[in-house]
Amino acid sequence: MEGITITVIQNLHTHTNYCDGADTPEEVVLCAIEKGFSSIGFSGHSFTPYSKEFSKIGDHTEEYKKDIKSLKEKYKDRIEIYLGLEVDMFSEPDLSGYDYLIGSVHYLKKDGVFIDFDKGAKEVEEIIRTCFHGDGMAYAKAYYKTLAQLPVYGNFDIIGHFDIITKHCDSRNFFDITSKEYCDAAFEAAAALKGKIPFFEVNTGAIARGYRKTPYPSVALIKEMKRLGFGAVITADCHDKRKLDYRFLEATELLRECGYKEKYILTKNGFEAVPL
Ligand SMILES: [Zn+2]
Ligand SMILES: [Zn+2]
Repeated sequence: MEGITITVIQNLHTHTNYCDGADTPEEVVLCAIEKGFSSIGFSGHSFTPYSKEFSKIGDHTEEYKKDIKSLKEKYKDRIEIYLGLEVDMFSEPDLSGYDYLIGSVHYLKKDGVFIDFDKGAKEVEEIIRTCFHGDGMAYAKAYYKTLAQLPVYGNFDIIGHFDIITKHCDSRNFFDITSKEYCDAAFEAAAALKGKIPFFEVNTGAIARGYRKTPYPSVALIKEMKRLGFGAVITADCHDKRKLDYRFLEATELLRECGYKEKYILTKNGFEAVPL
């Protein structure tokens, strides 16, 4: 990766202590300025009453919105700040008043029950055993069928962590991600989202948290997204301000290897392409 520089650094996937991030929004803003960002976007999790963790924290969406808007004003001479939301597909929040929206699937719904699968390998193994009769491929297919429904729930700008279902693929063989059966399921979801959500993210968050060695999504999926005409954004899915630009060089290189020559960033005029 020698000689590679990053043209414009921006992270649009940022969590704070309003949801499950470690830092206050202001701490994140100050860190972004220190790191040389000219802009940053916050994407707090939408309130999910069906989640054990989030129902404990409670719904702080309105305070979150107010806080980010006031920081936007306070730091306007030093950094551009965008107000976003990472919407869990089933949460159906009020989507008004945001600069951008990330659409994500963190839960599967089976027989009216929400299954939180964004968990450790042991929990995922248990989910596959109890909810999918031990069939990992059925689990992966259920995820992609759900993901394909995203546009029904809102006008999202960015598809969040497209293949989050592969979170443990470096350590566990729950299903074969190189198989035709798996690729068909993932590519079908991509085809269903084409023309409805313009961007996907190359997300380094699972590397930052020690689950994976490479960003989401896989090389095969990035190439398919390119073929289908999706634009790419690079994000850190940041829960810790120190990792706001975690492995962005690697993500840049990955996009280039997959044929991308540009990425998208959010500006005051909307999303704009910049060279990689
Ligand atoms: Zn997420
Ligand atoms: Zn996130």
